[in-house]
Amino acid sequence: MIPFLDLHKINAPYEAGFRQRLDDILQKGWFILGDEVKAFEQKYAAYCGTKHCIGVANGLDALVLILKAYVQLGRLQPGDEVIVPANTFIATMLSVLEAGLVPVAAEPDVKTFNLDPTAATDKISTKTKAIIAVHLYGQLADMAALSALAEKHGLLLIEDAAQAHGAMTGAGVRAGNLSDAAAFSFYPAKNLGALGDAGAITTNDDALAATVYSLHNYGSEVKYRHDIAGTNSRLDEIQAAFLNVKLDGLDPDNDHRRNIAAIYGAGISNPKITLPFNPGNHSHVFHLYVIRTADREGLQRFLSDHGISTQIHYPIAPHRQKALTDWHHLSLPITEKIHDEVLSLPISPVMTETEAGVVISALNCY
Ligand SMILES: *Cc1c(COP(=O)(O)O)cnc(C)c1O
Repeated sequence: MIPFLDLHKINAPYEAGFRQRLDDILQKGWFILGDEVKAFEQKYAAYCGTKHCIGVANGLDALVLILKAYVQLGRLQPGDEVIVPANTFIATMLSVLEAGLVPVAAEPDVKTFNLDPTAATDKISTKTKAIIAVHLYGQLADMAALSALAEKHGLLLIEDAAQAHGAMTGAGVRAGNLSDAAAFSFYPAKNLGALGDAGAITTNDDALAATVYSLHNYGSEVKYRHDIAGTNSRLDEIQAAFLNVKLDGLDPDNDHRRNIAAIYGAGISNPKITLPFNPGNHSHVFHLYVIRTADREGLQRFLSDHGISTQIHYPIAPHRQKALTDWHHLSLPITEKIHDEVLSLPISPVMTETEAGVVISALNCY
């Protein structure tokens, strides 16, 4: 049996380090906003190349806090429109709603699965004030085009980098450092995963960083003095400690994922299957390896019968979800086609080349 993702195996090399850090924290008895959080924020900012990193409770909160901080700073007003890709995990949309703003869905490019800058341009109205680019499945969105668009229309550009830790442009600029502010999730299954919920915001904007920092800790910079109505969305000291143990493994892990993706790309030759675009460089960290095929359920069953687990990211488009009834009238044919056809193959830092070969053989027999 080839699992879709083996989190036990992924974390096994780090277990001794986790236990050591947990012992240290139990000894110190300091659990909230301590040395581990501070160390992680410094290390992750340095890794992304940004001036600031603020640890938060999860990836959704990271997005919400960026947007709420811009509202607090007067850069966004309630009711402003924010362009989001129509095909993304629903968290991207929910963050905009949670901040009192209006998400506007734009179609992706069917080749890269990422927001199509031309489709985004078509959605710009007088109320548009921001764009959230999602680096879906680990592939950087077209940030050059989106930055130019944002600059031309005076819009904020925000990255949802929850699936793209470590992805890098040809010029060596990392995800998290390609916009005004970026949101990361360290949900256990992400490329950099904690042992529970965790997230972070990266930015070079001093005012945004200070506002997010205050908002995530009850609007307080001095204990028991509350300047703004904030929330509690802190990164746990224990999760920060685990992330400090794992961060050095991120680049080798991403290299391994790219290697598996290259093996899949060279080996899969079934005309019924469309392979994902592979840029062949560091702009893709292959959080997911997503193929397309007409009879997706049939292929999934076939692979399951051959002992290969797959998943669907995502089976229902956001504008077809019950939670977003306001969007049910939208016609987004590219997004719908993607949601009907995608299938995610196993890929991970612990998947072996032999396992990839088994998957390839099965796919080529289908
Ligand atoms: C995982 C994910 C999120 C949300 O992260 P959580 O930590 O689960 O809140 C947001 N956007 C995208 C694209 C994601 O994949």
